[in-house]
Amino acid sequence: MSLEDYRRKRRVGGTPEPPGEEAASPGGRLFVVHEHHARRLHYDLRLEVEGVLWSWAVPKGPSSSPADKRLAVEVEDHPLGYADFEGTIPEGQYGAGTVAIWDSGRYDNILAEKEEPLTMAEAKAQGRLEVRFHGRRLKGGYALVKMRGPGREKDWLLIKMRD
Ligand code: MN
Repeated sequence: MSLEDYRRKRRVGGTPEPPGEEAASPGGRLFVVHEHHARRLHYDLRLEVEGVLWSWAVPKGPSSSPADKRLAVEVEDHPLGYADFEGTIPEGQYGAGTVAIWDSGRYDNILAEKEEPLTMAEAKAQGRLEVRFHGRRLKGGYALVKMRGPGREKDWLLIKMRD
C-alpha cells in the first residue's frame, strides 16, 4: 500500500486535502463514504486497511437492497486523515468540487471470521471483500466483487448482502 498515486495527483498547497502522514486509527477499521460533487456527483467509499484508505468511486452510491449491484471503480489509496475531510477542492485541481461526509463509522472484515480467515489484503487479491458496516446509514453486510474482463481492471460491484 502506498500513497504515491494520491500525492502524484495533487499539488501541495493547491488543495485543502490532507497530505497524509497519520498512524492507524484505534481498531484500524474505519470507513467513510464521501458525497463528492465533482464534475459528476458520486460517492467515494473508503475502508481503512493497514494505515491507508482503500477507495472506490461509486457513481450511484451504495444501495440497501440486495437486488442492486452498484458499480464501484477502484481509485488510489487515500491517507487516513481523509476520513475527516470535508470541504471544497478548488477548480483546476484533481477532483474539483465539494466533498461532504455521507456516512462514517466502523466496519468488520466478515471474511476474517470464517473458518479459514482472510485478511482484507488476501480477500482483495481473490477479488471478493465482505464487510459489515456499523454506520448511521450503512448497516450490515456488503460484498465488493471484482469484475472480470478487458478494461475492467478497476471495476468492482458493491452489493448489499442478505444479513
Ligand atoms: Mn471522488
